[in-house]
Amino acid sequence: MTAQSSGSSLPVDFMIVDTMIVTMDAQRRIITDGALAVTGNVIVAVGKSADLGRDYRARTVIDGRRFVITPGLVNTHVHITGEPLTKSLVLDDTGFEENVFQWLVPIHMAYTEADERLSAQFAALEMLRSGTTSFLEAGTIRFLDPVVDGLTEIGIRGRVGQWAWDFSPEDQSYPSAATDAAVALLSDELGRYPAKEGQRIAAWPILIGHMTCSGELWQAAKELADQHAVGVAAHMSPVQADPDWYLHKHGRRPVEYLADLGAIGANTIFTHGVHFNDDEVGLLAGVGGNISHCATSALKGAYGATAVGRFPEMQARGINVTIGTDGNNNSNYHDLMRATYLLAGLFKDARRDPTLFPAEQALECATLNGAKALQMADQIGSIEVGKKADFVAHDTYRPEWRPLFNVANQLVWSADGRGVHSVWVDGVRIIDDYRCTTIDEDRIYAEVQSAGEAIVARSGLPIKSRWPVV
Ligand SMILES: [Zn+2]
Repeated sequence: MTAQSSGSSLPVDFMIVDTMIVTMDAQRRIITDGALAVTGNVIVAVGKSADLGRDYRARTVIDGRRFVITPGLVNTHVHITGEPLTKSLVLDDTGFEENVFQWLVPIHMAYTEADERLSAQFAALEMLRSGTTSFLEAGTIRFLDPVVDGLTEIGIRGRVGQWAWDFSPEDQSYPSAATDAAVALLSDELGRYPAKEGQRIAAWPILIGHMTCSGELWQAAKELADQHAVGVAAHMSPVQADPDWYLHKHGRRPVEYLADLGAIGANTIFTHGVHFNDDEVGLLAGVGGNISHCATSALKGAYGATAVGRFPEMQARGINVTIGTDGNNNSNYHDLMRATYLLAGLFKDARRDPTLFPAEQALECATLNGAKALQMADQIGSIEVGKKADFVAHDTYRPEWRPLFNVANQLVWSADGRGVHSVWVDGVRIIDDYRCTTIDEDRIYAEVQSAGEAIVARSGLPIKSRWPVV
């Protein structure tokens, strides 16, 4: 089963041997007594341990008997700035409008440059510790350069970009100066952080979306994405307010309006889409577009994902369904395994149909589909020869991992990110025995607490509790 075999043994940097590998390759092979070999940042062989042991000579051999190896997970919507340092500040009886305008906007404005860098690293740490190796940012609030610096230091793979918009809901005019500035911002960051080979962190045009962008800005963002061979991301229709506004303002629903503008395509990813109707699902499917389903925010924000969300229909009609974990005040964690569990379960229950989103399909959403949405299907999302050495070692010496009979079932229905023992990105073991090797976790936890308290103080917002704190 080795992809490369020759008469003499070839040197490689390291091998993991005697393990179980969930490859996510074209045949979806699960290899027992498996091995994989890495040189530099690339997987050079995957197969049976006996074969690789004969064909390859590794400088380091890792005993994998304790592990199940999967591809690194791909989180397609995560707010790495603006919320991680104030996680769980907002109570869980807060509606969408109050959450955004009374809580999140003042918090976002209270973050300093140093806060955004720390926040990005902290979000990346939580993702890595729970098995996510690549992510698509929801949009840096203000300070992209220190964010990229912090992400580069920790070593995660990601696509980032500063939030762009050109009018606010209060001011529904279309100021051309604001549009020009927003387009210039997008163009400039794409030039600074190009998605060329070898760049772990690169920029995308990322719009806030909703009702914050003019048609000109939507079109410009799509054109820039096409020119730079990247994607374009935006929030849309978590609640009924977006379709209502587009119907009132443009006489069409959001996806209809954007399709008429030529502003959506196979490189478009919408976050939420809970209130897309059948016509919008058809339009997005027609262009081969992507959706980031953030079940965790729908649950806490009462969006109606299971009541009105057409996610099973999106999957059936060929929209690329992916999974995100959104922001820390309407979805308070970035463990994509927990979010994958929700995708697998919510629609089974809501539709009383156990065939919806089987475990294997949910795992595809968390890996291959995410890779495709990030425009990186040829580089990540599976454990195959030639792909980046981004993978996760799940620790089976834990109660939720034993006994082990069906590994797809185990990954989705039993395990979660707590069992992630080790994580490699670009061939570097960034998590080793549950600890980050690139940054000092204890320092981060202390800094996050003090920075979070300072942000809350500057924002003027209260720290609420329904129970007396004595
Ligand atoms: Zn979001």
